[in-house]
Amino acid sequence: MEQERPGIIVIGAGVVGLAVAWHLARGGVRVTILDPAAPASGASFGNAGAISGGSVAPLAMPGVLKQVPGMLRNPRGALRIPPAYLPRLLPWLARFVAAARPAEVERIAAALHALQGHALDVHRQMLAEEGASHLLRETGHLHLYFDAAHHAKDAAAFALRRRFGQRFEILEGAQLHAIQPGLSPRYRLGVLVHDQGFSTDPHAHALAFLRGAERRGARLLRARAQAIITEGGRVAGVATDGGPLPAAQVVLAAGVWSAALLRPFGYRIPLESQRGYHIHLPNPGIVLERPVVAADRKVFLTPMASGLRVAGTVEFGGLTRPPDPRRAAYLLEDVRRVFPAASTAGTEGFWMGHRPCLPDSLPVVGPVARVPGLWCAFGHGHLGLTGSAPTGAVLAQAMLGQRPNIDLSPFAPERFG
Ligand SMILES: Cc1cc2nc3c(=O)[nH]c(=O)nc-3n(C[C@H](O)[C@H](O)[C@H](O)COP(=O)(O)OP(=O)(O)OC[C@H]3O[C@@H](n4cnc5c(N)ncnc54)[C@H](O)[C@@H]3O)c2cc1C
Repeated sequence: MEQERPGIIVIGAGVVGLAVAWHLARGGVRVTILDPAAPASGASFGNAGAISGGSVAPLAMPGVLKQVPGMLRNPRGALRIPPAYLPRLLPWLARFVAAARPAEVERIAAALHALQGHALDVHRQMLAEEGASHLLRETGHLHLYFDAAHHAKDAAAFALRRRFGQRFEILEGAQLHAIQPGLSPRYRLGVLVHDQGFSTDPHAHALAFLRGAERRGARLLRARAQAIITEGGRVAGVATDGGPLPAAQVVLAAGVWSAALLRPFGYRIPLESQRGYHIHLPNPGIVLERPVVAADRKVFLTPMASGLRVAGTVEFGGLTRPPDPRRAAYLLEDVRRVFPAASTAGTEGFWMGHRPCLPDSLPVVGPVARVPGLWCAFGHGHLGLTGSAPTGAVLAQAMLGQRPNIDLSPFAPERFG
């Protein structure tokens, strides 16, 4: 083992691990971040950039069960379960459907609101301290629907958002097309969601957190965590492919890869990848002030520093199955459907990333009861950029001995039995 006085090891240099490291380093702790890959090269690299603290509706809403047959039958659908993957997914799906009960939805929304309702404030503060405020834009989001009947499908989710303080307004017909020129005339109803923001470069955003952590003494090691080392029942360090490293405390923030490291302690965390894709239009020839979300395809079109990013689709299928180029091709069709005049010239290749998803749409954040000194920060699913900054803030509070300002019990790893 190294001879230095043990500090805190953060496993995983995605945006969540980096935000945790930033807050811990700012709190005066010596932090080592471990990742075998380049920082923010996983899901954190290619997401849609939306910072959506008001997104309190869980993915599983009442009626979700009805959607499953369509996901299995339609390979072109926005949500896709390859039939061969279904047997493996069934236990996860059963929990997912259970989370759609009305009382559960209410509980989950309250927990999401408590953890990340103020996400934009925390991102704003962190980026300002890093001289990177230019990465954040606070112009809201625009959700598109064909008409009122189409919008009614999401009415329950919007009602839930409103109850937790989210402000939005409905725009119809000409009003909608005035605020977003270039839209296909098929879309006749929009919801302009206020108080939401986006990052114009999610990769640079995460690296700004790393820079801030490093400035305060944190170091990044290119190493893979192989196991958590315990002594006398509590955390003593991390076994890595470069040898063992001592630690007084360890944070598990390895995105979708986190669950395996908890298994030796008897935890079976139902963490599934929801694989998402993006394509990039370097010169789209249309102007967007904010992320535009086509609700029919659950696709985000975000104006980033380097062009228009079109991100979305949910594909189950685990971690080893190769990416499916057809899903990226559907994204290209989506752009043409939403913005018929957009130029796709120069669009090359595509990107796929793994959203780390728990069936109840809540991340795992907080202490591991059976292993004193071990903490979790993973499983933020579709909202990991959003949740990174506030998760870092609350976890650092808890780890540094202050009373966290929210109840962490809804996020406990023990909730899965
Ligand atoms: C298409 C798409 C669009 C999205 N859009 C949005 C959006 O608009 N807004 C939003 O808030 N979220 C969005 N998300 C979700 C968001 O990107 C993720 O929730 C978030 O990036 C997860 O961050 P993370 O740090 O937990 O995981 P990751 O970014 O995956 O990082 C995990 C890191 O852990 C490392 N690691 C793995 N195993 C080990 C090990 N054994 N030892 C050490 N390190 C290890 C990996 O190399 C990786 O670098 C989107 C995701 C996708 C795919």
